[in-house]
Formats: sequence, structure tokens, C-alpha cells
Amino acid sequence: MRSRYSAYVLDDVAYLSQTWHPDFRPRELTIDPDIRFIGLAVIASDQQDRQATVEFEARLLASGQVQAMHEKSAFVKKEGKWLYTTGEMLMPGFQPWKPGRNETCPCGSGKKFKRCCA
Ligand SMILES: [Zn+2]
Repeated sequence: MRSRYSAYVLDDVAYLSQTWHPDFRPRELTIDPDIRFIGLAVIASDQQDRQATVEFEARLLASGQVQAMHEKSAFVKKEGKWLYTTGEMLMPGFQPWKPGRNETCPCGSGKKFKRCCA
């Protein structure tokens, strides 16, 4: 999951495609160039023999605003590799992320948000 997140950050469409179960993969895979991912928080994860779920919140910059998406992703293990199948959005689409006063930036810089990505 983290490696797929990194692929979104690095615009690595090939990696996203390789780790997406072929039965679920969109025919054309593109990353919206107007979106920049700046942070990831894993909220919960569960793994069984060949199935896993990861619930996460990702923060991103889109049209100059920090937004958040909250998803539960499902993976299956096939030939020793974890493949993404589907994601369930736990809130509709992207929502504006409202940092508290003096909150540190979600990009992980350690700086205050208002002095960093704001
Ligand atoms: Zn930042």
C-alpha cells in the first residue's frame, strides 16, 4: 500500500499498473497532473492468508487547497504478490482538510502548515 502511495507521488503509472489486479485495473491508467499527494496516514489494516485491507487517509494538494481522501483498499495475494483490487471511499471524493491552529504540515516537513504547503 505504501509503495503504491509512493508511486502516486512519483507519477509511476507502470508500478501502479503492475500492482493492480488485472480483473479490476482500468484500461487506461492516468494520474491527474493537478493533484499532488503530500501525506499518508494508515488508520487500520487487516491481513489474512491471501486477503488484506488497508484503511488510510491521504492528503493532497489540488487547486491550491489541501484536501483529504479516506479510503479502504482491498488487496489479494496472487503468485506471492499483493495486488490492489478495489477501494471503498469512506467519504465522498476529496474533502477540504482543515488543519488546526499551528498544526504541522501533512507533507512531513515538520514545519507548521501555514509556513509550508499552505
Ligand atoms: Zn508542507
